[in-house]
Amino acid sequence: MNDYIKDNLAEVRSAIDSTLNKANISKDQVTLIAVSKTKPVEDLMVAYNEGVRDFGENKVQELTMKYEECPKDIRFHMIGHLQKNKVKYLINKAYIIHGVDSLELAKVIDKESLKQNTVTNILIEVNMAKEESKFGVYEEDVIDLVKNISELKNVKIKGLMTIAPYVENAEYNRVYFKGLKKLSIDINNQNIDNVDMEILSMGMSGDYQVAIEEGATYVRVGTSIFGARNYNVGE
Ligand SMILES: *Cc1c(COP(=O)(O)O)cnc(C)c1O
Repeated sequence: MNDYIKDNLAEVRSAIDSTLNKANISKDQVTLIAVSKTKPVEDLMVAYNEGVRDFGENKVQELTMKYEECPKDIRFHMIGHLQKNKVKYLINKAYIIHGVDSLELAKVIDKESLKQNTVTNILIEVNMAKEESKFGVYEEDVIDLVKNISELKNVKIKGLMTIAPYVENAEYNRVYFKGLKKLSIDINNQNIDNVDMEILSMGMSGDYQVAIEEGATYVRVGTSIFGARNYNVGE
């Protein structure tokens, strides 16, 4: 049935391990996020039973539904674009929100987190390749945004995230992963209060090995684990 998920997961894990070995990076540096969007809970549970605890979702309703149905030791990562009016449903359910790209959105997350008596971890999404079709702030605007968001008490910036272009050859994206790493070092050097740069969320099915070589701490892998997505089902 969905035994292929077990095999796929083993392959992804072994590719990650060999990349870490080759690049001399310690194993605890990188966490695999299994991107389970559009996939049923039973598919998640196959990965869960193999030890996966980090899952990525891009829709609020789907994330909260799976949150209710799944074991409570799962960390659900919100990796999609987030609308302000849906923020309240995610607080205390999303482990970390990856795609924050405006002060306005951060302010809503702050306000809702205060209401629910918590601090929400976020990543700033950077549009490294300046693709018009993508969300995210441009590299040159990140430091100002980080400084402004750092003033908010109920959100905590934990790092940066990027979605690299779709490319045939993962090497084409190396420059963007390098750039995101450099940006995180620059921000870290500014020692801004309430800001950590410990997380770099970059790399997907097509390019996660290159992303790891360039310093990714989270890789977000969907298709290579769960197979192709069918967007006509359940949307
Ligand atoms: C869907 C998605 C992924 C996973 O993509 P695959 O190519 O299926 O591995 C990763 N990151 C984000 C933000 C996504 O929306």
